[in-house]
Amino acid sequence: MKCRACAQKAVIRLPSHNSAFCPGCFDRFVLSQTARAIEDHRMLTPEDHVLVAVSGGKDSLALWEILSRLNYRTTGFHLDLGIGEYSAESRGHVESFASRHNLPLVVESLRESVNGSVTDIAHATRRPACSGCGLAKRYFFNRAALATGATVLATGHNLDDEASRLFGNLLHWHDEYLAKNRPDLPSLSGLSKKVKPLVRLTEKEMASYAFLRKIPYVLKECPHSTDAKQLLYKKLLNEVESASPGTKHAFLFGYLERIDRLFPMRLEEDHEESPSGRCEQCGEISWTPVCSFCRMKEKVAKDLEKDGLIPLPKTAP
Ligand code: AMP
Ligand code: ZN
Repeated sequence: MKCRACAQKAVIRLPSHNSAFCPGCFDRFVLSQTARAIEDHRMLTPEDHVLVAVSGGKDSLALWEILSRLNYRTTGFHLDLGIGEYSAESRGHVESFASRHNLPLVVESLRESVNGSVTDIAHATRRPACSGCGLAKRYFFNRAALATGATVLATGHNLDDEASRLFGNLLHWHDEYLAKNRPDLPSLSGLSKKVKPLVRLTEKEMASYAFLRKIPYVLKECPHSTDAKQLLYKKLLNEVESASPGTKHAFLFGYLERIDRLFPMRLEEDHEESPSGRCEQCGEISWTPVCSFCRMKEKVAKDLEKDGLIPLPKTAP
């Protein structure tokens, strides 16, 4: 099979684009798809300072590399979740990537900040581990953006992530989530603007990119990630995609063409609801006198005390 762009031997086939590419042309394809997403959704300007949330997985490490290659000013941010080997490996990949590429990186530890593990959080809040983890990520991402002076926060969500999220939100008609199911969320009252520059690229394309660019990343899955529904939606969309290439892209981008008509008031309404004060305990932006992260922290401390346990020492095991 020949590369569609230069007729050399192709190494990757992209049925959704009715194409096949050699390594060099695939590399240009990934860069141009990212640049197009940034331009179409007005994600970034050359003056922006981008805080890239890097988990240690292929998407966010590749995103950090791509944004640097596109000459954006970036700082990496990693939240060490303190989940045994999985977190140690993830953090290791992020730190070695930063030093290899000579890029600034900020690392925070959830365990140290909460004085408890993800399991302690799940126990204290009586919610799945992923929900405490999600709350913590949102809190730390915003805090790090403000602390570093970054103007935008970028995450590594790809086309598969966004399409499967849209699928789930439509199945359950989650209006409030549908309004926010977009790759660009504006800055609201002190919270940073959020963008997803990999929205035009699939999971497979990102894995091929990380492989061709020799970017080491964590292969282990988070032991708590059992979001079976999201995995099922991805699987179903992939089945439709293989029967009818291009459907996943058409599904998501067809929606994005309509989103402003479907939800014209949403972001305005959110603007009115957006936080005006500061948390009494941590000083971060908050809707309530004490922010949800500090309330979660309190619950963990009380829960450990109730069980006659002392909070964990401030260092990770
Ligand atoms: P996930 O929610 O695990 O699918 O991750 C989605 C995106 O959130 C990733 O591509 C990263 O940009 C960001 N992210 C997830 N986990 C972390 C973490 N521990 N530290 C920093 N960024 C993260
Ligand atoms: Zn707080």
